Amino acid sequence: MEAIYGNLKKWREIYNYEVKKDVTNQKKKKLTPERYFNVKRPTFGKLSHDDSKYVRTFRMVSYGMLEYSPSLRSLILRDAGYNLAQRFVKKGKIKSLDDLPEVFFKQKIGLFDIVRESLNRMEINIYECISCYDSPVIGKTLCDFEAGLIQGALEKLIGPNITKEVYCCGLGNSFCGFEVLFE
Ligand SMILES: [Zn+2]
Repeated sequence: MEAIYGNLKKWREIYNYEVKKDVTNQKKKKLTPERYFNVKRPTFGKLSHDDSKYVRTFRMVSYGMLEYSPSLRSLILRDAGYNLAQRFVKKGKIKSLDDLPEVFFKQKIGLFDIVRESLNRMEINIYECISCYDSPVIGKTLCDFEAGLIQGALEKLIGPNITKEVYCCGLGNSFCGFEVLFE
C-alpha cells in the first residue's frame, strides 16, 4: 500500500498539467465495446495479471446499462456506490478519511488521492479508475459509481455534500476528479 501510494507523484504531475492546459477540447469518439472493454491499468495490471478481465466484466455491465438508458445508468450507479459506501462505514470498513485509499485500492476501483481539503470543500482524484481509465473521449463523465461512493462515505464521515465529477477520461482527461461541496 505504502509503495503504491507513495508513487502518486507522476499522477499529480499529470493532474497539474491537465488542469492548467484544457485537454477536454478533443474530437469526440463513440464509446465502442471493443475500445471500452479492453484496457490495461498500469498499477493494477502489474499487481494482478487478471486485472484487465476484472475491469472488462465491470464495464460490460456498465456499458449494457448505458445502452439501455444513460440517465438511468447514472442514477442507478450513483445510488449503488452511495449505498455501498454507507454500508462500509456502518460495518467499520471505513472509519475515517484515511481508510478510503485502501478501500478503493482493495476493491480495484482506482487509486484514491485527496488533492485539496478545506472546511467546506474537497477535491479528490481517482487514477486508473475502473469506470473510465483509458476510455475514448465521449464528451461526458462516466464515473457515477465512484461519485456515489465518495458522496456516501463523506456524508457519513463528515456531513451532507454534493459530489460532482469535474475531470474524467470520458471528457479527455487522463484521470478522474471530483469536487465535493459540503452543505
Ligand atoms: Zn471518470
